[in-house]
Amino acid sequence: MAGAERGRTPLVVGNWKMFKTSGEGASFIRDLAEALSGVKDREIMVAPPFTGLYEAAQVAEGTCISIAAQDVFWEREGAYTGEVSATMLADLGVKAAIIGHSERRQYFGETDEWVAKKVCAALDHGLQPIICVGESEEEREAGATAEVLAEQVPVGLSLVRREDAGRVTLAYEPIWAIGTGKTADPGVAQEAISLVRREVADTLGAEAARMTRILYGGSVGPGNIDELMAQPDIDGVLVGGAGLQVGSFSRIVRFEKP
Ligand code: PEP
Repeated sequence: MAGAERGRTPLVVGNWKMFKTSGEGASFIRDLAEALSGVKDREIMVAPPFTGLYEAAQVAEGTCISIAAQDVFWEREGAYTGEVSATMLADLGVKAAIIGHSERRQYFGETDEWVAKKVCAALDHGLQPIICVGESEEEREAGATAEVLAEQVPVGLSLVRREDAGRVTLAYEPIWAIGTGKTADPGVAQEAISLVRREVADTLGAEAARMTRILYGGSVGPGNIDELMAQPDIDGVLVGGAGLQVGSFSRIVRFEKP
């Protein structure tokens, strides 16, 4: 049975990474809202850099698009130069935060323990966390995918209260597929995402696993979205490169239902 029939509304998130000025982001959102008029039964988010969040939230107000941040810090305020708290994001009208993206793990030393603290802070301040997990190419080749997920998922969820479980989203993003043009075969993505769901069940219970949306991310584009969304455990996608143009992103959002 597909996620939508289980009450998990499909979610498409565009991660802009370090692209688009505030003005470029605002005009993208205006054009996207127009391109998506009439789209129903799916949730749409874009994640601009911190500098574009205020403008993006203003422009997105009243449209079908909501705004996510690309990261969040776990403290509410304090002497943490360069960091931004969940309270500050919520104050701008931001609805969600991507946490533990592989680029943050790789370039900024983000650990599963940090992810757990950020997830907890996001939930405490009304933001929906989108937790990224996934194995590297070497780990996949070594047959260690299940082992990696069995570490990242429970630790990342370790501070989540059961009553908050429905507000958490996970994104399975195999590192070898991010920005490489090498999408995971839909069957491979389905298999890994079913492992993620099993880890959610073991950590937070079967009901939480039934409610939790799990996205796929890694070179998603107009050419593979329909096949990915036909998989029973894939509840949406996290999109990088193809999320930077209105044409390709709106085609992804308009995926065909199986
Ligand atoms: C990402 O940044 O999370 C991502 C999946 O990027 P891309 O779609 O470009 O592979």
